[in-house]
Amino acid sequence: MKIENQRVTPSESQKFLGKGVPLEQTFKNLSPAAVAAFLVSIAFCAFLISATIIDRRNVVKLRMEQQIFDRAHKISDTITKLLYKTQALSALIVHNSTDNFDIIAPSIVDNPTIKNILLAPNGIVSKVYPLAGNENVIGLNFLEEGSGNLEALLAKELGDLVLGGPFDTVQGGQALVGRMPVYIETPDNHHHFWGLVSVTLKFPDVLDYAELDIFSTFGYTYELWRINPDTNEKQVIAANYENLNPKSEFIERPVNILNAEWFLRISPVRKWYSYPENIALIITGFCFSLLAFFVMQNNFQLKNMQSVFELMAITDPLTGIFNRRHFLEIARISIEKARRHKENCFFIMFDIDKFKLVNDTYGHQIGDKVLMDVTTRIKADIRPYDLFARYGGEEFIIFASGISIKEVCDMTERLRVSLCDRKYEYENISIESSASFGIAHMYDYNLEKAIKQSDEALYTAKRNGRNCVVFYKSL
Ligand code: GH3
Ligand code: MG
Ligand code: MG
Repeated sequence: MKIENQRVTPSESQKFLGKGVPLEQTFKNLSPAAVAAFLVSIAFCAFLISATIIDRRNVVKLRMEQQIFDRAHKISDTITKLLYKTQALSALIVHNSTDNFDIIAPSIVDNPTIKNILLAPNGIVSKVYPLAGNENVIGLNFLEEGSGNLEALLAKELGDLVLGGPFDTVQGGQALVGRMPVYIETPDNHHHFWGLVSVTLKFPDVLDYAELDIFSTFGYTYELWRINPDTNEKQVIAANYENLNPKSEFIERPVNILNAEWFLRISPVRKWYSYPENIALIITGFCFSLLAFFVMQNNFQLKNMQSVFELMAITDPLTGIFNRRHFLEIARISIEKARRHKENCFFIMFDIDKFKLVNDTYGHQIGDKVLMDVTTRIKADIRPYDLFARYGGEEFIIFASGISIKEVCDMTERLRVSLCDRKYEYENISIESSASFGIAHMYDYNLEKAIKQSDEALYTAKRNGRNCVVFYKSL
């Protein structure tokens, strides 16, 4: 069995026995398990948080879908209903009641967003209600070139109500128009194009009914747009923003109003990090990971402390080599092994000569240093599997097995020389020291007897003048 002599420095043990574990120590001695726990926890929290954020985003998206659907429907519904007032005008013509226009018109214009209604036989405006403010419409020819007149031509061609605009009107302001072609049945059952009837809606006032401001309340930007048939370019009809970020996510739905196709696009203004609950989630996740780290790290430190305490229990605090109690425990196991293999076993006991004098002359601290250096010199000279311990005070013991008597004597002599051939130097102090050695051969594998014998041999060495080796021989 290979038993290495371990050393716990006093400062190390004091550190653990003192004020607990300092924070700098916590980070200096990181536990891989704690770091792994932190990283795994961070990854897990990141997964959960992103899943939560994605989930919330999907909910927001669903809500956006619902709202965009509602608003698109409302826009289409409001405008279509108002423009179908052209049917009432058409009925006037079909029933040859154009003279009653001024009487019937006020009942048709029952909504404040209707700017005017008019009759345009052969496309030329002849009657308008209300006249006030719309005088300059009289005489306009819708079938000629002009803003919004493409729709008039289209209405004639399709034979159906057509939406035009929004465009700037001759009276000022913007408007949406519904142009409806009117055909009169001739006596010979043919349909004769009479002209156009039209409803003009104030724009953007008509959009008030669609309550698009609700998008702002929910934190979305919206944009209502179409391809302008006059320019063939995108025309923003209504929006609630100054600059739309083209990269931001959006939902877009078509808004079909008669022949026209508009588009309603909305996008959330707030980013995921502008939601306090998301930030709170991230902080919680981080704190949780940190907690996991500290729990694991603390556990690691406790285990470290435990092993330090275990080491302290078996070692001598000054020299770091085994203490007497542990030496005897291990020696018993080694003796048992040697007995099975019928190996030679020896105990070498040594004691520093006149050590009291060192203490008295140079002080206890220098004495301690000598004890430490003696340990270092001996450790350098014994085999790693020889047991070496401080037996007490300035007395040490070595257990060596598997060698011959000659070898153990040579080895002990070598150790004796290594302790006395060089002085012990400390700053301007130079000390000469030596030790006396007693060896006992353990013939019968009896530990107590062998220790006693080595002690007796050591005593003999002292009596013989010190700094020598005595091999115990029974009388
Ligand atoms: P001898 O040659 O007969 O062994 O003489 P000695 O002076 O070494 O013997 P003695 O047993 O009288 O003295 C041993 C001294 O070792 C007494 C004690 O103060 C000192 N000592 C024991 N343990 C320590 C220690 O841990 N540190 C220091 N500095 N001195 C110690
Ligand atoms: Mg001594
Ligand atoms: Mg002594």
